[in-house]
Amino acid sequence: MFTPVTGRTVLVTGGTKGIGKGIASVFARAGANVAVAGRDRERGEAAASELGGAYVEADIRRAEDCERMAAETVERFGGIDVLCANAGVFPDCKLDDMTEADIDEIFATNVKGTMLSVKACLPALERSGHGRVVVTSSITGPITGYPGWCHYGATKAAQLGFLRTAAIELAPKGVTINAVMPGNIETEGLAELGPEYREKMESSIPQRKLGTVQDIGFAALFLATDEAGYITGQTIVVDGGQVLPESMMALEEM
Ligand code: NAP
Repeated sequence: MFTPVTGRTVLVTGGTKGIGKGIASVFARAGANVAVAGRDRERGEAAASELGGAYVEADIRRAEDCERMAAETVERFGGIDVLCANAGVFPDCKLDDMTEADIDEIFATNVKGTMLSVKACLPALERSGHGRVVVTSSITGPITGYPGWCHYGATKAAQLGFLRTAAIELAPKGVTINAVMPGNIETEGLAELGPEYREKMESSIPQRKLGTVQDIGFAALFLATDEAGYITGQTIVVDGGQVLPESMMALEEM
């Protein structure tokens, strides 16, 4: 039996669409106060009103935005119990064509932005007494590779490097930090990659289907419970078995 998260406050970066919105919707349904952060005000306000939560505008690449994001959430709800550091970008580009700016840009959002978000929310998470951070990493980078996403994979692996030491530093503050590692999840972003990409992806997953944004939300919700309080610095893969087949033949044998 899990202690309900009713009345706790959850801030989800990138909670205005895709996986982040799915995470926010799971927490909202569980009775938590939900704040969603993003840069597009119109989309953010629409998402907040749909979720019955608050929109906080922030570009997580900037420290002052992250500080304001944390302050506005505390002002609105009285504290922060859970930070879902989810905002991320995944532009595709092969190494041959990659510029220094491409590398800086993706690291600024996915790595620096994650670290700045956690840092800004830390005082409030410590005050909560049961602070939780859930980072949205990926299977791409830490476990798998995909041409066009070597810079992205590097950022998603870097997030795990960050959280393992952060977990040690945060432990005396009563704050845990863990990551969910999604496989291919059905989002607007993924839809932009086209139907052929989707079909091929589905055929490479043992469960033969993409994940839903709620699948990631439920894993995040578990990591945010009191009962998960002894888990820190760890990862949960949520991918329908995608990382398991050792070859195409393993899938054909099914
Ligand atoms: P998405 O649909 O493109 O949504 C990205 C979210 O992040 C949006 O809310 C966006 O809002 C926000 N965002 C982007 N840059 C930001 C910035 N600088 N400051 C603040 N907010 C920012 O992406 P998604 O597919 O849901 O991905 C979410 C996370 O899951 C990412 O970390 C991604 O790496 C990870 N992931 C996704 C998949 C997948 O299959 N979709 C698989 C593995 C991992 P604004 O545009 O308004 O800023």
